[in-house]
Amino acid sequence: MKEYSAFSLLRHAASHNRNWRRAWRSPEPRRRYDVIIVGGGGHGLATAYYLAKEHGVRNIAVLEKDWIGGGNTGRNTTIVRSNYLCPESSLLYEKSLKLWEGLSQDLNYNVMFSQRGVYNLGHSLQDMRDIERRVSANRLNGIDAEVVTVAQIKKAIPLINTSPTARYPILGASLQRRAGVARHDAVAWGFARAADARGVDIIEQCRVTGVNRDGGKVTGVETTRGTIHSDKIGIVVAGNASVLAAMAGMRLPIQSHPLQAFVSEPLKRVLDTVVMSGAVHGYISQSDKGDLVIGAGIDAYVGYGQRGSFQTIEHTMAAIIQLFPTFSRVRMLRMWGGIVDICPDACPIIGKTSVDGLYFNCGWGTGGFKATPGSGWTFAHTIAKDEPHELNAPFSLERFISGALIDEHGAAAVAH
Ligand SMILES: Cc1cc2nc3c(=O)[nH]c(=O)nc-3n(C[C@H](O)[C@H](O)[C@H](O)COP(=O)(O)OP(=O)(O)OC[C@H]3O[C@@H](n4cnc5c(N)ncnc54)[C@H](O)[C@@H]3O)c2cc1C
Repeated sequence: MKEYSAFSLLRHAASHNRNWRRAWRSPEPRRRYDVIIVGGGGHGLATAYYLAKEHGVRNIAVLEKDWIGGGNTGRNTTIVRSNYLCPESSLLYEKSLKLWEGLSQDLNYNVMFSQRGVYNLGHSLQDMRDIERRVSANRLNGIDAEVVTVAQIKKAIPLINTSPTARYPILGASLQRRAGVARHDAVAWGFARAADARGVDIIEQCRVTGVNRDGGKVTGVETTRGTIHSDKIGIVVAGNASVLAAMAGMRLPIQSHPLQAFVSEPLKRVLDTVVMSGAVHGYISQSDKGDLVIGAGIDAYVGYGQRGSFQTIEHTMAAIIQLFPTFSRVRMLRMWGGIVDICPDACPIIGKTSVDGLYFNCGWGTGGFKATPGSGWTFAHTIAKDEPHELNAPFSLERFISGALIDEHGAAAVAH
């Protein structure tokens, strides 16, 4: 307690934070590890944490080309929910949501998980049929979900435009009350600190440039800080998955697209939930700082530039103003982009590959932040046991051979 008192904050500020304890070490890479995780985003850090915590693996490195959380983990709009349509995905995301519910306590780090609810709006009879179908499917899978009326929406979100003469009138919505948002940087930092405390080496500024194989077996990686050996390598690099797969001599069924997000100037509290609309194609929440956090779907072209086109910005703003006409007077502060890796069925890949000891976790597209703890938990199981957990078994690479795809295009909606 003493350490975080106002006086100590003042003392640290006066000393330019020279005496602050680092939240995680910055070790030199060893020449060999039992497991190497490539990618220091939330998923990679969570994987390392659960490998150490749940499976007792001690000699683990997380290799990150830049700084941890500088990829999509630090660029997303932080929506967390589990109301997906298919049993396979809803069970996986629900496992994740349950982990979110205890995450701050588990990591002893406040990830600011706020269960403020997520509304998915319906604007046509077909939307409402889809919403009813999804809510029923969610309930069958033990997930909280309800259909709400326009009057209920207006009561909860007074600024929303429920006029029946709107171009896309709101007819109702689904609501998941346990859904919400979390503080993305805190998630990366919390997992990093907790993994480090269990002996995981987090090595930043260490880009993987090659994946070494001995026939059908992986033997290590080439990096900008030398060769590092391991018999088990988990690759979790989001939009860079195809690049890393090519290094291992493989191709993945993935396309990489830019995805943008936007924040406004800070406002006093005007919105205390998350609103998404697949029809007008936008979504919005308000951060604890007060800025409106806004996003939509991907930029339609493929590419690795972490920026998007003006056309998407215009389209998204039009959608938000359609829902909240009063926000037309709010000034936008900035926008940014990340690169998201998308599979043909809008579902991730978490599993083994045809190369012994090489595992991939990717393809989360526009919606992987919510899965951070669940993804790490199942991937850690897969790497430790060399076989998938029942929750991630359906998300293997095999499904692109067998054809057992899990179509989540509908529930991915405006895609978060
Ligand atoms: C604008 C935007 C909004 C989004 N909104 C949401 C949302 O509201 N809800 C939601 O659930 N999801 C959302 N997402 C998706 C979500 O951000 C991602 O699915 C998730 O964060 C992926 O986490 P990750 O740890 O796999 O990836 P990242 O955080 O990107 O981590 C991968 C890391 O790998 C590193 N790396 C890459 N190549 C190499 C290499 N060669 N060597 C070493 N390291 C390497 C990168 O530097 C990066 O730090 C959004 C994404 C974007 C871009």
